[in-house]
Amino acid sequence: MKCPFCGHLEDRVLETREQKDGLLIRRRRECLKCRNRFTTNEGLLMSYPLVIKKDGRREDFSKEKVLKGLQAACQKRPIALAQMDSIVEGISKWLLSCSDKEISAQQIGERLMMALKSVDDVAYVRFASVYKTFKDVQEFLETLTPINQNQLNQATNQNQTASPKKDQPEQLTLTL
Ligand SMILES: [Zn+2]
Repeated sequence: MKCPFCGHLEDRVLETREQKDGLLIRRRRECLKCRNRFTTNEGLLMSYPLVIKKDGRREDFSKEKVLKGLQAACQKRPIALAQMDSIVEGISKWLLSCSDKEISAQQIGERLMMALKSVDDVAYVRFASVYKTFKDVQEFLETLTPINQNQLNQATNQNQTASPKKDQPEQLTLTL
């Protein structure tokens, strides 16, 4: 660590202290050249890549938005909130682990669709039919009030084999 007094790059650590349950490491250091002492903090860098929208704008990833979109797609489906949470957690961990600084909303949407597919076919088709029209999950989430009724019926009909009991037509409403 560059010494704040003389700019020398070598120092020795006098003391290391864990703080906030190990989330922060504080080190007391002594410059090997001028012998002045200073303190550094070390913490995990956890940040999501920026989401590139279809129109090229960038925005912050929002777990809440994704969860709301999932909840809308999963309305009246036998899917526990815990399951949706775990899908969102999975997406979020994947984003934290990815080394890119930016990621397209489309990639997130596709990942989300795959996760949804493994949980519930009807919810998947519902999500996919709308999502694919928009090609952009953020846009989908923003324009979800209300979903075009024909699209919804079509999505439900396409999935008749997986869901013998016909879904009641329903309005997906979501205000963001
Ligand atoms: Zn120094």
